[in-house]
Amino acid sequence: MYVDVHAHLTHERFLSDVDEVIKRAEAAGVTAIVENGLEPQSNRRALALAARHAIVKPALGIYPTDGLNEHLPLDFPHKVAHFKVDDELAFIREQALAHTIVAVGEIGLDGYWHGPETFALQEKLFVALLSIAKEAELPVIVHCRKCEARTLEILADFGATKVILHCFGGRVALAKKAAEAHGWRFSIPANARVNPGFAHLLAELPPECLLTETDSPYLGPVRGERNEPANVVGTIAFLAELRGWSVERAQEVVWQNYLSACRPS
Ligand SMILES: [Zn+2]
Repeated sequence: MYVDVHAHLTHERFLSDVDEVIKRAEAAGVTAIVENGLEPQSNRRALALAARHAIVKPALGIYPTDGLNEHLPLDFPHKVAHFKVDDELAFIREQALAHTIVAVGEIGLDGYWHGPETFALQEKLFVALLSIAKEAELPVIVHCRKCEARTLEILADFGATKVILHCFGGRVALAKKAAEAHGWRFSIPANARVNPGFAHLLAELPPECLLTETDSPYLGPVRGERNEPANVVGTIAFLAELRGWSVERAQEVVWQNYLSACRPS
């Protein structure tokens, strides 16, 4: 039983072969893939993909950049969907309360692509999404690039309990403190063998706070190659090596963490 708690299989790079990618994951022993939406289109595609494949569990969210779509400068270097954030919040809330989804995500804060002038807006949206998750008793899947300490502070002030921090790039000591104080979980991507920060998280976090993810199509174990959910198998093998565990034990620990994180309580 392997799990990928953070994938983007509705990304255009999977357009031609998503069914084969999912088949490969199943053949590798993956039993749950949490598909994370980012904006209206990927949110709806996540629901549609989950309807076609039992292994796909949908999460709906508004990614920080997309959340700023009504305010971005014209020369912003990436293509961003244009939509009304309030309308999408209403849609996510409706789905969350109907329990068609397993988590609210991908949500969070980004200080890499966006400057401090956007932080108030980003934080307002983040808290609105945290509130939806709380109301529906769902976990949140959180992005926090170059805003790690502030993100953890907001989560603590909010009193969030069901938290999955995805690809946490902040200091390991900060992650450990958050895991120990709040029981928040950290999902480690498939490139952990080549990323010392992620390797440290795998080795040092409390075992009950560990999850695996891919962020497919990004962050593959081989730089530049498209990533896919089957690659969580390599992260579990690495976790087992680092801890001196059997692969079965590493698998079981992470699977139980997934069940307690994403199963309705
Ligand atoms: Zn992501």
